This record gives sequence, structure tokens and C-alpha cells, in this order.
Amino acid sequence: MTHKNTKEYAKALDNKDPLKSFRDLFHIPKVNGKDSIYLCGNSLGLMPKAARTYIEQELSAWENLGVEGHFEGKNPWMYYHKLSKPILAEIVGGKEKEVVAMNNLTSNLHLMMVSFYRPTKERYKIIVEKGAFPSDQYAVETQVRFHGFNPKDAIIELAPKEGEYTLQTADILTAIQAHGSELALVMMGGVQYYSGQFFDLATITKAAHSVGAYAGFDLAHAVGNVPLKLHDWDVDFAVWCSYKYMNSSPGGVAGAFVHEKHADNPAFPRFGGWWGHDEGSRFLMQKGFKPMQGVDGWQLSNATVLTLATHQASLEIFKKARGMNVLREKSLLLTSYLEFLLNDLNLSEKELNIITPSAPEERGCQLSLLVNKNGKVLFDELTKKGVIADWREPNVVRIAPVPLYNSYADVYGFVEILRLHFH
Ligand SMILES: *Cc1c(COP(=O)(O)O)cnc(C)c1O
Repeated sequence: MTHKNTKEYAKALDNKDPLKSFRDLFHIPKVNGKDSIYLCGNSLGLMPKAARTYIEQELSAWENLGVEGHFEGKNPWMYYHKLSKPILAEIVGGKEKEVVAMNNLTSNLHLMMVSFYRPTKERYKIIVEKGAFPSDQYAVETQVRFHGFNPKDAIIELAPKEGEYTLQTADILTAIQAHGSELALVMMGGVQYYSGQFFDLATITKAAHSVGAYAGFDLAHAVGNVPLKLHDWDVDFAVWCSYKYMNSSPGGVAGAFVHEKHADNPAFPRFGGWWGHDEGSRFLMQKGFKPMQGVDGWQLSNATVLTLATHQASLEIFKKARGMNVLREKSLLLTSYLEFLLNDLNLSEKELNIITPSAPEERGCQLSLLVNKNGKVLFDELTKKGVIADWREPNVVRIAPVPLYNSYADVYGFVEILRLHFH
């Protein structure tokens, strides 16, 4: 696809965009009285306008029904989390019984590691990507210590080759083979939060299994961003938050996937709570934990209805967009346009370097721009001119055009500001 570097061309792409009307379903933050250029959906997705109605509905149920709201009203709270299952299952490529909305991301990662990281003297190592999101690093480090191992020995961090910014699949596979019988778990980001690299989850999972290890992924930056097929890829577990590309409210309810081959096994080790207990006998309040079938058997507490309500408001938009393939199609075009315009600035690598892979299948919507000189000055200038993006120390600006609410004109407007800065 050859693009053009003109405002008219960007507008023409917007006019042809089948998802054009979806922007109106979101509140776009204003800067200086004008719509901002919001390129930060990788950090916090925008608020669906319907979110307020969804929350108000549950506030009204609480107001009018009190405790009876658990069993009465339009969406009884006892089953509220199940509303999300069909759409979530489609978004991550799992069966309904393999996905659940619960807790928060890092809590879910710990719960999953309780089940999938059970080290022995011989098999105790974890492969992670170097520079993983800090919360994941802390989770892995403290899990390893909890089991009495030394993080320096047990955690294998995979770093890009000298002078490169992303990992090569072949090198990941080599590392998995090299640690073979000592490897307990591969736990990586799905889309790396800093570089924007989308790892080959199917191939990594297969390699982990071939040496007898589990494979689990943190999909914080992948869910709602790239098409996923967790069930078919035979992934053992996955976790994600819902406030980035899933637009479900700051700190809102997170999600988890456990493959049915583990999830349907009641003997599979886990930490239990009453909401994971067999629904039919939950309120008999008896001794003896009997987990529900599927990943529901990992739930602990009764559902956080208010954040599930905003989550549902957002999921309905994904449903209306008819799923990830439609979103991905626009996303590929939108990000390729961003890439084209950036390359058309003709800057040297020293001035601005896109460190995200150039192959579309190896990235989501985000491009990470390494700005070696005065990066923070550039970033502050962007902010002043109405671009909301994010800055990651020491020198990266992350730009995420989101197909649900970003336009080609947003991307064009952003790069025009860069042009004025550099030229
Ligand atoms: C955003 C993000 C988190 C945040 O964790 P919370 O538990 O939601 O605070 C963790 N890990 C990754 C990879 C992230 O991108």
C-alpha cells in the first residue's frame, strides 16, 4: 500500500473507514477546548459514553433492591460476571469456560503462578523477557523467592541481540531448548509494553511444551489490540487488564484464561475462594472446596459489579464492531500510515528511531519511538499542542493509534507536530 503525506489523503481514509462512527461512542478528552489527539490507549483506553448508563443501572439496582439485587433486577449480580464471557472468549480466542473477568492483573498473575509455577529441585527456572513490565518482574521475583529459589539463578531474562531492540523467535526457542529439563515456565508479555513487539505465542508455547514446561502470557498490551487464539495455540494460562485497549475504566476488573485441559481438572492445584466453589452448593456454606469447571474455579470473591458494568459497556462496542479481525484490519492500515508518515520525515536514526518491529504481524497498533536527543522536550511540546501520548524513561515515546476511536487525521496531525519540531 502506498500512502500519501497529505491532509486530504488522511481525510479520504477516514471517509472510507468502516469503523468511522465508532469514535462517537467514546468521550475524547479536550485540550485547550479542542479534541485532543489521544494516542494513549495503550495506557488507558477512553471512556465509552455508555459506561455511565451501565454503572447507573447497577447503582439503581442497589438503590431499589438492596441485597436482593444479587438475584433480582435486569442483571442479577450473582451471575453478572458471566455477561462478559461470550465477547471475552471471542476476543482472546478461548471457550467461554476458559475465560473469566475477575480481580486485577497482577493478582491474577500471582494466582496463575500458584497453579503453573510449582518448582522442583530439578525443574525450577522461568523464562521471561528482559525489561518486562515492573509488576511482572516483581511477581516473578517474589514467586521464585517464595519457593526458596534464588532469582539470579531461577529467572532467565531474554535480551535482544547487541544493537537490536526486539527479540528474535529463533533465539527464544534456543533458550527454551538450552534450559530444557530445568525449565518450569515461560511467562512473557504477549505484546511487549515497551517495544511493542508481538511475540509468536503459538510457537513459543509449542517449544515450552516440547521440553515439559508450561507457557503463560501477560496480555495487558495484546488483548483488544491483536487477534488471539489462546485455545488453539494451546496456551496454558493468560492474564490481562481491561483498562488499556479494552477501555473498561482505570484499575477496572481484569481477566484470566486457563486452557480447558487444566481448567476442567478439579485436582489441578490452585488457591480457592467461595466464588470459585461449585455454584449449585455455594450457598450451603459447607466444608470442602469443590471447584467449578473451567477457569471459574479460580475465582475468589464475589464479583466487583461496578467495574464489570463499565467493562460490559466496552465489550458491547467490541461486539458491535464484529470482533478483532475487523479491528485488526483497520489497525494494520492506521499503524502503517503512522509508520509511513514518520519515515517520510526523513530523520536520521539518531534523531528518531522506530524500535517496534516493521513486520505488521510482529506488532500491534503501537509504535515506540526512540528519541535520543531532547526526547522529553519533544514530549512536553506534544503535550502542549494537544497530543496525549506517553513517555517511558529513558527515551521512548509510545504512540498507539487505536482503531476503535482514532482517525487517520489524528495520526496525520501528530506527525505534523513532529515535523515542526524537527524541521
Ligand atoms: C499495565 C500492565 C500491568 C499493570 O498491572 P496492574 O496489576 O493492572 O496494576 C502489569 N503488567 C503489564 C505487562 C502491563 O502492561
